[in-house]
Amino acid sequence: MVRLFREDDATLEPLVGKTIAVLGYGNQGRAQSLNMRDSGMTIIVGNADDKYAADAREDGFEIHSIRDATAKGDIILSLLPDEVTPAIYAESIRPGLKAGDTLVFASGYCICFDQISFPDDINVVMVAPRTMGALVRESYLNGRGFLSFLDAHQDVDGQAWPIALALAKAIGSLKYYAMQATFKSEAELDLFTEQALVPAIAAALMTAVEVLVAAGYDKIESALEMYLSGEMGDILHEAAHLGFVGQTSLHSPTSRYGTKSRLHLFATPEFRKNMEEILVNVQNRSFANEWAAEQAGDYQHFRALEKSMADSVFAQVERDVMHELAAATPQ
Ligand code: NDP
Repeated sequence: MVRLFREDDATLEPLVGKTIAVLGYGNQGRAQSLNMRDSGMTIIVGNADDKYAADAREDGFEIHSIRDATAKGDIILSLLPDEVTPAIYAESIRPGLKAGDTLVFASGYCICFDQISFPDDINVVMVAPRTMGALVRESYLNGRGFLSFLDAHQDVDGQAWPIALALAKAIGSLKYYAMQATFKSEAELDLFTEQALVPAIAAALMTAVEVLVAAGYDKIESALEMYLSGEMGDILHEAAHLGFVGQTSLHSPTSRYGTKSRLHLFATPEFRKNMEEILVNVQNRSFANEWAAEQAGDYQHFRALEKSMADSVFAQVERDVMHELAAATPQ
């Protein structure tokens, strides 16, 4: 049975009088630190003394090394990139942990793939927002909230769930709602979305724009029609409320007929097989091993992939369109 939690299901009491150490001041680290401070919590930040630390200092936070912040914190949020977390955990987090601490992750990755083992005397929980850091902050400020997945991996004192719920409330998630989901399902579903759904959408957009431009259509009109106008975002936004099928009723009969009569051209057996293979590689840890090897190899393949996309016809069209639109004067 689905377990959902809203604002009234949690109290901030388990966080009162506690020091919350946020390790990492990137996408999630900055947004969650600001939200929790605005909710009245005591926050310190753990980061190397570099650009991210400068951002945190400018935002008014006390900065420590990751090891010192862990030692000073009662509740420690590890908001570091997943692939570097096991090494940082061994070197800097594990030595600072004390009996009764609560260690918090924003993703199920390292636990799902057994990359970290914990001392028996701490709580280990997951508070994983289902949105980007910038929107974690924006949704806090506008009061809308956002979905989070919560779970408790270790509960030494009966406080794991009350603390997870309190954190979900303090970062602003419960204004929308949070849901219980295992570390395993959070990690596997997230990877599947990133590796199957997002590339499918990216391939559709890239191919569509390239086909239209090659056929002589104006690149600005093409890119705006495809997605830069925000219409595609609006469709997915409505799908989140009405369901994808439900939102089709918002479109004209011409549009609905066109979409439904051509769907089979894309939902091919090969398309399905690719998705199934991606899922198997997530489940059998092939992807986690591949990504760990990338990190060990100084991200060489990753850098080549980033360059390849940045150099694509599609990326060039986008840069041109953005440039021309920015320079255009509304008539
Ligand atoms: P970021 O990439 O934004 O994290 C950057 C931070 O990590 C910086 O403070 C950086 O400091 C620190 N960092 C990076 N490498 C190292 C290193 N080798 N040693 C020490 N510190 C390091 O991470 P995100 O905020 O994107 O992700 C954090 C967690 O949140 C992850 O578990 C992710 O899965 C999860 N999450 C992310 C979402 C997102 O949209 N981004 C959504 C939901 C969950 P410096 O480089 O100075 O050392």
